[in-house]
Amino acid sequence: MIIILFGPPGAGKGTQAQRIEKSKGLIQLSTGDMLRAAVAAQTHYGQKAKDKMDAGQLVSDDIVIGIIADRIKADDCKGGFLLDGFPRNVAQAQALDVMLAEEGVKLDAVIEMKVDDAVLVDRISGRYTCAKCNEGYHDTNLKPVVEGVCDNCGGTEFKRRNDDNAETVAKRLKEYYAQTAPVLPYYAEKGILQQVNGMNAIDEVAAQIDAVLAV
Ligand code: AMP
Repeated sequence: MIIILFGPPGAGKGTQAQRIEKSKGLIQLSTGDMLRAAVAAQTHYGQKAKDKMDAGQLVSDDIVIGIIADRIKADDCKGGFLLDGFPRNVAQAQALDVMLAEEGVKLDAVIEMKVDDAVLVDRISGRYTCAKCNEGYHDTNLKPVVEGVCDNCGGTEFKRRNDDNAETVAKRLKEYYAQTAPVLPYYAEKGILQQVNGMNAIDEVAAQIDAVLAV
C-alpha cells in the first residue's frame, strides 16, 4: 500500500505516520526528516536546504524529488510506504506519478488531515521529540509519563526543531496555503483524496485513518 499523509505543518502527520508504520508495516518517508538529517550531516544537499528550511520556505523541487526518487527504490519500500511532507506542490505530485509509474506501483490514498490554524500554531510551538528515538511530545498536550524520560526508549535528552518558532510557523503556513494546498484538487480529480478531522485526539484520528484505509 502506498499512501500520502497530507496537511499543514502541525496537523499531526508525523505522529500518525509513526503509528501507521508500526501498525501496518508501511515505511514512513518524511522529506522533512530526511532534509534535517542531511543538514545535520552537512551534506551537499543539506547545506543547500538549510537556509530555506530555517526561513520556512520550500526547498527546491530537484532536491526533494531526487531524494524521494532514490528512496522509494530501496528494498524496504517494496512492502509499501507512507509519504509525509511530500509532495508539497503540484510539480512534486506530477513527478511522484512518474516515479510510481516507473516502479510499476500506484498510489492507494491521499489522506488530508484538517486542522484550524490557531491550533496548528499552538501544537507546533509546544512540540519536541526524543533526541534518541524521535518519539514526539508536546509541552501541554502530550507529556512523557515520567517527566524528562522518553516513554518509548527511556532516553533523557529531547530536542526542538529550529523552524518550530512562531515567526517561522507563520511563514510555513503561508507556504502551505500558497503552494501545497493546490495539490488537493489534483488528487481529488483522481478520486483518491480522503479527509480526516485532525482536530480530534490522536487515537480518534488514528481510528479514522484506519477506517479510511480499510475500505
Ligand atoms: P516538515 O518536517 O515536513 O515540516 O518540513 C520541514 C521543512 O523541510 C519545510 O518547511 C521545508 O523547508 C522542507 N521540506 C520538507 N519537505 C519538503 C518538500 N516536499 N518540498 C520542499 N521542501 C520541503
